[in-house]
Amino acid sequence: MRPKNPLVSLVIPAYNESGNLEWHNSKIIEFFTKHSINYELIYVDDGSTDNSLAIIQKLSAKYKAAKYISLSRNFGKEAATSAGIKQSAGDVVVMIDADGQHPIELVNDFLSEWYAGYDVVVGVRKRNKKEGLIKRFGSRLYSIILGSLNGRNTPRGSTDFRLIDRKVANEFNALTEHNRITRGLIDWLGFKRAYVEFRSPARHSGKAAYSFKKLVVLALHSFTSQSTKPLQFTGFLGFIVTVVSACLAIFLIIERYALHDPLHLAVTGSAILALFISFLVGLVLICQWLLALYVESIHNETQNRPLYIVSQKSK
Ligand code: UDP
Ligand code: MG
Repeated sequence: MRPKNPLVSLVIPAYNESGNLEWHNSKIIEFFTKHSINYELIYVDDGSTDNSLAIIQKLSAKYKAAKYISLSRNFGKEAATSAGIKQSAGDVVVMIDADGQHPIELVNDFLSEWYAGYDVVVGVRKRNKKEGLIKRFGSRLYSIILGSLNGRNTPRGSTDFRLIDRKVANEFNALTEHNRITRGLIDWLGFKRAYVEFRSPARHSGKAAYSFKKLVVLALHSFTSQSTKPLQFTGFLGFIVTVVSACLAIFLIIERYALHDPLHLAVTGSAILALFISFLVGLVLICQWLLALYVESIHNETQNRPLYIVSQKSK
């Protein structure tokens, strides 16, 4: 049974958000007060270089429900979010950006899905027409590649803005891998999930900390930490190269030396040599794939994820 008046922990990672924190904080408090929801705010200052920390400290002194931790340097949003979830005590944990791009009102919808029995409620961003073509195309490409790599059918536009039940948060806290993408891990954990759509407004102030280059690196990390399929790629390529060049070589050798060139192809010795070389390249790629299989099992062992996650059990 879900508790009647759950404590909602709001985890807010913040990196150089001095222009947003006060404004966003009052919106959040107004929302929770209006709906009489029990809450705690967990600000995570991710090594900001502006006066974000000072503002967070001021807010924390003013509002009892506002707690904070400050990381010793900038560790990135994924680490900051993990730190916040670890500090949280609520019956549910909601992760939200500090810049106002995640409308706090959606927490009501999250909670109703939670009351309906869902353990993970994911905010799905509706297409934003104002966003640049490259960003839109990029995020679409990202979801398509990720979906085909990890075989999970996560709706396009799934964000970090999501609610997780305490039991999901506990399982999340037990994960030890370093190269982590928060939403990828939460997706991996499973549990009953629901999706709520929202429209994302523009940043209230400042600009996004993630540059295009950082985003590409993050996307690559996310592919390799959530899937080992890229490792299999050399095997696939090697297989095709080997088979195609072997077939061609056999065909040419028979055509030239056994049948004495009935098709008048006049194949030279160096062409056959080239085919032989590509055959060998194919073999090398296949051998690399064998290595990749071992690397894959090392990767899986070092990620050290639990073998399984229990969602319910008898008393
Ligand atoms: N953030 C963080 N550490 C970082 C970069 C960003 O904690 O190194 C926070 C940032 O303060 C914001 C959230 O992560 O609350 C999302 O960041 P941003 O708005 O830059 O990204 P986008 O909206 O493009 O996803
Ligand atoms: Mg943002």
